Parts: sequence; C-alpha cells; structure tokens
Amino acid sequence: MIRKRKTLLKWLVALALVVVPVVLVVVPFVRSGMVMGGYIEYSAAELLNRKGFDWRTAQTGHVFVYFEPGTHAEKMLEKLKRVNEAAYDSNLRLLDCDAYPEKLHTFAVDSREKMKRLIHYETNGKAFPRHHTACFVVSESIWAATAHELFHVMHHQLWGQAGFKKWHWLSEGMAVNADEKWQGQDPHGFCGQLHEKGELIPLSQLCDRFGSASPMITYPQAGSFVRFLYEEYGVAKLRELWQQGHQAMRGVFSQDLSQLEKAWLARIARAGEPPSHAARTLLR
Ligand SMILES: [Zn+2]
Repeated sequence: MIRKRKTLLKWLVALALVVVPVVLVVVPFVRSGMVMGGYIEYSAAELLNRKGFDWRTAQTGHVFVYFEPGTHAEKMLEKLKRVNEAAYDSNLRLLDCDAYPEKLHTFAVDSREKMKRLIHYETNGKAFPRHHTACFVVSESIWAATAHELFHVMHHQLWGQAGFKKWHWLSEGMAVNADEKWQGQDPHGFCGQLHEKGELIPLSQLCDRFGSASPMITYPQAGSFVRFLYEEYGVAKLRELWQQGHQAMRGVFSQDLSQLEKAWLARIARAGEPPSHAARTLLR
C-alpha cells in the first residue's frame, strides 16, 4: 500500500514538473495578447507600450494612425491618413455594412525588422481583428498600408469569425480583393498570365489546402476567384459562403466548385473586360 502511494506521489511530482512550467510560459503569452487563428493578437495599448518605440498619433474620422518621428510614415502622413480613410469606406461597401462600431488603430513601421520587434513576427502587414488593430510597413521600398489588413479587421468583426480558421482562402481572397490591384495589376489579369504559364492550382486544392502552394500563387488566385464571385453573385452570397463554408458552395451558388472553376477561368481569359451587372451594382 505504502509503495503504491509512493509511486502515485512520484507520478504527481513528475506531472507537476511538466505542467507548472508550461502554464508559467503560456499564460503570460495568452494574457499579453489574445490567441486567435494560430497567432497572438496584440491590442493597440500593448503595442503603444512596446519598449524601443517613440509613437506619435494622428487621426482621421475613423482611424488612429500611429507613426514614429523621422520615418517615411511621418513624411507621408497625409497620404497615410487618406489611404486609411478610403480603405474604411471601400471595405464597408464590400462588406455591405453602414458603419464600424469602433475606431480603428493602425501602426506604421519603417521596416520588416521593426515589425518583428513590434509584433514578434516579420511581415509586411498584420491584422489583429479582436483589437480593431492593423500594422503595416511604410517605407521608401514597401508600402503595405492598403485596404488589405484593415479589411481583415473589419471583416472578422462585422461578419463574424466563422470562416477565419477553416476557410483561409476565403479570408485572404476577400482581403486581396479589397485592394483594387495585386502587384500593380488587376487580379484577373494577373491570374490570366499565371494560367497561361500553367502555374494556377486547382480550386479544390486552393480551398482545401490554401498553404500547399506559394503565396505568390494562392493569394492572387483566391483574390481573383473571390472577385469573380462578387461580380457574378453579389455580396449577400459571399456572406452566406463565409458563414457556411465552401462545403456549402453548391447550395449557395447552385453550382459546384468545378462548374464555378470553369466559369472563373473563362472570366480571367476576358480579364480586360468590365465586370457584369452584380459588380457594377457593388461598385456604384
Ligand atoms: Zn491577409
């Protein structure tokens, strides 16, 4: 009996040695930024308090703009404010909503290295939807302050989180579509060129395994496909898809994915032509 108790005690001590350090490491992380969609979300207050930054604040009607003195963002502040405010308006229109309930927060840093120091991740842009916050690099060579990241924030807040983890292609496709251009080109035209070179991936792969190919293919492809769905079916159907997932595609569009793929490929072959009636209504 005593031996059994000793064994049990040993197991409990071993378990505590494993569990306690894990809790000590993970809990502060979760508290310092809420974890969502596989990454930590930071609030504007946390980012403003990050050591090594000297933030200044400007604002428009709907957006706080944080930047540092002496940076390209400060030099281009008026443009930055204009772009953020325009993104607010166009994103609302794409989401078919009248207003956003909170003021948005945007942080402009002047390099990817600075971004890494700010959010612990090296990238050109990042959205933290739970905190109404987006960060982007604004420098002489990189201008990431477009509608894309603010779209993620507004999309997830206004349409709900339903598709965020499960339908990554749809989340990114909608954000890519929010920018008029992908690398300076219309996404349909860009995909038309990829198609000619045989570089597009099947839509079934895009929807089920978004991360299985290069982002240089998957992002514009998702953006073009989403733009096609907007053009042909309108925003209400896109919203239904967001809430139900692409498994419900046939129910939402009365077409299965292979039929939609055929129509989309025909659309990108006519990339230079204006969009159909639905898009004209949307872009009014
Ligand atoms: Zn994105």
